[in-house]
Amino acid sequence: MDIVLTGTGSPIPDASRAGPSTLLKAGDTHILVDCGRGVVMRMAGAESMPPFLAAVLLTHLHSDHLCALNDVITTHWVMTQGNATLKLYGPPGTAEFVERQLHALEPDIGYRIAHHDVITQGPQVDVTELEPGDSFAINDVRVTTAATEHAPVKPTIGFRLEHDGVAVAMVGDTIPCEGVDQLAAGVDAYVQTVIRRDLVEAIPNPMMQDILDYHSGVVEAAQTAARVGARRLVLTHMVPAPTPDQYPDWVARAAEHFGGEVIIGDDLTSISL
Ligand SMILES: [Zn+2]
Ligand SMILES: [Zn+2]
Repeated sequence: MDIVLTGTGSPIPDASRAGPSTLLKAGDTHILVDCGRGVVMRMAGAESMPPFLAAVLLTHLHSDHLCALNDVITTHWVMTQGNATLKLYGPPGTAEFVERQLHALEPDIGYRIAHHDVITQGPQVDVTELEPGDSFAINDVRVTTAATEHAPVKPTIGFRLEHDGVAVAMVGDTIPCEGVDQLAAGVDAYVQTVIRRDLVEAIPNPMMQDILDYHSGVVEAAQTAARVGARRLVLTHMVPAPTPDQYPDWVARAAEHFGGEVIIGDDLTSISL
């Protein structure tokens, strides 16, 4: 199994970081978790493409995590000539979001159907809305879910993906909570979106202060990783985004609380498990 960080950014625009998104490749089964800005470009960099996706999983409906879903849907549709269904799993509200997205895309859908004889219908998106605790299979990848805590965003859903004896937790934006502990228990890699609490606290901007109460800090992520016995902690969606010379400081802060490997990645960092 490989996981590729297809987007390590956050809502703050960054020329070298696409929006939040992580790609899992379990053999030929490609699963995308979240669809932040620029994800289709990064998928190309990860030797994947929307038509290769067995499914897309959404952790929550915050715009930074799904603003490129329209690109995934459209590219999947065009590249499969309208002959394949995109499977999408997300929290309640996902079906309405997709319906509205398709409505917004109606002019383009109409133009392409009119222009290409081979395309006779619009994008086929099969949405499954999840309740925390649901579990299901995507080919031979077992997916379990649990509630995470990112209030006032509700519900938010974290994922544990297992294949061939390897387990990964991708929990999205959340503070430490029981759901994360369940999903990340004993995993080979625990992928956590993080902020640096000490640095954010020093930014004199009320909206930046608001993010403190619904994200995990680096220290909290490391404490979670240690508590649940994860083998690796993968940091993504870093706020404020570090420059490579700052990575050792971030890793050192996590290492004070967690003895396993800490990975802080650039876009397209790939982890083989
Ligand atoms: Zn969020
Ligand atoms: Zn986010």
